[in-house]
This record gives sequence, C-alpha cells and structure tokens, in this order.
Amino acid sequence: MKKLFVSVFAVSLLFSCNKSSKTAVDKALNEKFDHYKNNFVDNLWKLYPGWASGVGFHKYDSLLVVPNADQRKKELDFANTQLDSLKNYNFESLSDNNKTDFQMIKNQLEGTIFSINELKSSEWNPAEYNVCGVFAEILNGKYDSLDIRLHAFNIKMNNIPAYYEAAKKNIKNPTIEHTDLAIDQNIGGSAVFEGELNDALSKSKLSQAEKKEIQDKAKVSVKAIKDYAEWLKNMPNKTPRSFRLGADLFAKKFNYDIQSSYSADEIYKIAVDHKNDLHDKMFVLADKLWKKYNENKPKPADKLDLIKQVIDKISLQHTTPEKFQSEIEKQIPELTAYVKAKDLLYIDPSKPLVVRKEPAYMAGVAGASISAPGPYDKNANTYYNVGSMSGWNAENAESYLREYNDYILQILNIHEAIPGHYTQLVYSNQSPSIIKSILGNGAMVEGWAVYAEKMMLESGYKNSDEMWLMYYKWNLRTTCNTILDYSVHTKDMAKEDAMILLTREAFQQQAEAEGKWKRVTLSQVQLCSYFTGYTEIYNLREELKKKEGDKFNLKKFHEKFLSFGSAPVKYIIELMLSEE
Ligand code: ZN
Ligand code: ZN
Repeated sequence: MKKLFVSVFAVSLLFSCNKSSKTAVDKALNEKFDHYKNNFVDNLWKLYPGWASGVGFHKYDSLLVVPNADQRKKELDFANTQLDSLKNYNFESLSDNNKTDFQMIKNQLEGTIFSINELKSSEWNPAEYNVCGVFAEILNGKYDSLDIRLHAFNIKMNNIPAYYEAAKKNIKNPTIEHTDLAIDQNIGGSAVFEGELNDALSKSKLSQAEKKEIQDKAKVSVKAIKDYAEWLKNMPNKTPRSFRLGADLFAKKFNYDIQSSYSADEIYKIAVDHKNDLHDKMFVLADKLWKKYNENKPKPADKLDLIKQVIDKISLQHTTPEKFQSEIEKQIPELTAYVKAKDLLYIDPSKPLVVRKEPAYMAGVAGASISAPGPYDKNANTYYNVGSMSGWNAENAESYLREYNDYILQILNIHEAIPGHYTQLVYSNQSPSIIKSILGNGAMVEGWAVYAEKMMLESGYKNSDEMWLMYYKWNLRTTCNTILDYSVHTKDMAKEDAMILLTREAFQQQAEAEGKWKRVTLSQVQLCSYFTGYTEIYNLREELKKKEGDKFNLKKFHEKFLSFGSAPVKYIIELMLSEE
C-alpha cells in the first residue's frame, strides 16, 4: 500500500516541480475562460434539457429529447467542438479554480465520447429509458406556480411516444437485470400520469379545455410507457449481454467517473489489503471486549466468528423508531460543538442544517440523505432527510435499528452532516464554480465524508473500544464495496462468493447483502467511489504530515482541501503539493 502510494506521489511531485508557479496566472486569459465556461454551460443545457431541470435550471422544462441517432450525433459533435475550443487555453496560465474546471470539462467531454462509442449502454440498458422521474419533478417542484409547471408538463408530453419508439430501436440484446429493472420502474413510474397528475390538475386554475388536453395526452403517454414495458417482456433475447462490464470497459469507466490517481487495479489491491488490516484490528478489539459481553461463554475458535458475536451484542444498544429522528437532531449541535472545540475546521454558522422527515415523494426508502440547494437556488435550505419506520413491522424495524445502533448512528451523522457532506457543501458553495456544481466529482464528495468519519474518531470523538470496533465494521462496508464492484465486473465473481464476502467478511445482514448484490448487477464503478476518494484524501494528509513535520496543521489542511470545491481529488493533490 505504502509503496504504491509513494510512486504515485513521485509523479505528482514531478509535475509540480516542473510546471507550477513558474508560469504566472494570466488575467485576460482567465476572463476569457470564464466567458467560455458560461457559453459551455448554456450550450450544455440546450443539448441536455433534462439534466438542466435536474439541477434547477428550468428554462427548457418543456423539452423532451428523443434519444435517437440524430441526438447522439449532436452530442458527439458538441463534445468534439468543445474539446477543440479547450485547446485555445494554455492550461498553465489558468488560475487554480479554472485549472480544475478545465480538467473537469475535458473529462466530461471525453467521457461522453467514450460512453457513446464504446460503453454503449444505450443499447444494453433499457432502464436508461424512463420519462417518469423528470415529469414527477415538474409536479413536485416548488420553483414556479403550479399552472406554469403544468403547462411545461403538457408540452413535454408531446415527445413521449417518439421517445419510446427511439428506445426500442436502440436496444440490442440487453442484460436481463436492466431489462427487469426497466419494466418495473417504467410501470411503477407511470402513476405520475394518473393519480399524481389528476391531484395537481384538481388544484390548478388552468382552463377546462387545457385540463382535458393534458388528460388526453396523459393517456397516450401511459400507453407508450406500458407498451414499452410489454415490448421488453416479449422481446426475444436469446443471447442477453452479461451485466458484468468486463475488465477493459470497467478500467476505462473507472478513469472517467472517478478521475483518480489510482487505476481500478491499484485501488482493488489496496482495498484487499485494507480489508485484511481491518480484520486484524477488529479481532484485537473484539477479543478484548469478549468478556464484557459474553462473560464466561467460551470464545469461538474462528476469528471472524468471534468478531461477529461481539458486534451482534453491541448492536443491541439502539434507539426506538419513535426517537430515531430526534436522536439525530440532538447529535447535530453536539458534533458542531465538538469540531469547534477541537479546532478541526471552521463551520459557517449562517447556513444551518435542517433535519426533517423524508418527504413522501423521495421514494420512501428508510435511511438518511442530504438535500442541498442546486447551483441555481443557492439560498434554499440544506435538509437532512431522515427516513421514517412508520408502517414497518417490528422485525424489520428491529433489524434496521440494530444496523443503525447507538454507535453507527453517530458515524452516520458524521458522514451525512458534520463534518461530512453538509460541511463539504457549505465550503463548495463558498468557492462558487458552476462547473464544479454540475460536474462535481462523486469520489471527492463521498471520499471526504468517509475521511471525516476516520478523522473524527482519530481526534477522540466518543472514544471507546466499542466505537472503534463498530467504526471498523462501517469502514469495511465501503472497502468491500470496492472489492465487490471490481471482482464482479472484472473477475467474474459468483453471487455465492459475493454473499460470503459481504455477510462473513463484512458482517452484513442477509437482506443488506442481497440489496448490495442487486446494486452491483445494475451499476458499475460507482461503488468504488467511496473507498477511492477516502484513500486518496487520507494518503495526501499523511504525506503532507510527513513533509511538514511540526508545521503541519490539521485545521488548515482541511480548510485548504475543501476550498477547491468538489473537484477530483487527484487535481486537488496536484494543486496542494505545487503550493508546498
Ligand atoms: Zn432491540
Ligand atoms: Zn455519502
């Protein structure tokens, strides 16, 4: 692990010695580049109106793009034209902010070309075709009056039949997993055009004639959606493609999506070593805690069995379904006070985090998530959405609460809120870059939240053997996500072996492991983002600590790191080291 990292570092050091700080920042060029970026975004939204709506830019809400060959050609032309334009800017003369924006735009464009010409998921993933989500967002959005939104809804429906006809033309021996998902999600989603739409219409002041027009088009839309699902069910598919991406495509997708200084092969090896290291540390703690939780019961001979039995006992300490949300609310100010007292980083008090019950339209899966205001709606609240267990049977609620026991719940709050996602978002809003808001790097964002967990525990937060043991279990999840993703997509890992990895080696419940298996059959690379980002951030910190010795300041490191916004960690590393 160490050795590998040093070699990567040598490369970035070389980069910084040769190129940085010698070239002065060119003010005129940077102004020109700012102008270019605005232009790029304007054109991006014209080409991808659905993406625009998703980030809160509603000018093109009424447009539905038909995903046909013509559209793909437009996307390729756009990517090539923009890549040409980028050649007009001398990278070394750009400011730090523009350097990272430049790299992110370039990666986005190259990724588009890769996706259309090589990945070709438009052929094998029928679940890419689903209009229901964007229509639901128009109905649920609060950005404009209901009548204006319904008007956009109305016009947008015009292209639905052509949209699904194009989808049918694109699809060629799809995977069974994505086909089943497409059938479920399209049929489930079509409710938007029935009950949900009728509720909205009954509240609107549109003329009776327009209401009738909308209802008629909604019927045509539902028919197109259900026909698509039917077509998928009946499609002869004798040689379905495997859901496994294969080593070559996985490695490339990893490079575009994660933008790490590590390759997929490298991060996989690091994850395997890290898993073994975690097991060793967990055994020491569990062995020590055995007596406290099991009194005179004989210890199991198997290390992993022993760890599991201690974890199971500690997991019995948990809150109730009724108190789940208030428990989270109580911890937020405690975390803020702790970060301040320990001087770990500055937290801007002017943008408070609002804890709320998860709104009904957000799928209704239990759990926790952060809703942040988009780049076009900066003054809106940041919400911590907490799933409710109302309506769950006692057994499911108990299993969920054991998972999010008194220890893990605190780590979850560190991850989602302070100093994890919420704190990172406040910082990224302070270094405003529309590019980083819309192309924000998932591995940086998730990596920071995972790094924050470890950093808080290292600083002594709620220090106990139990806390560390449960933290290691939690960290095994992200570590094994990477091992699973890589092994399934590039090494043909069987489901049976995957379940052993998750339940035995990562101590997960059967239901959780089944869910993870489903996720890895439907996604590629995304499961690697948490561990990869975390590893890069942690190793950067350790390297700087070594270099700076007594001068190293943890608070300064955190604030500097976050000041670059949601850029890929590898570019932040280059910039931070070049300033050394
Ligand atoms: Zn219980
Ligand atoms: Zn997260």
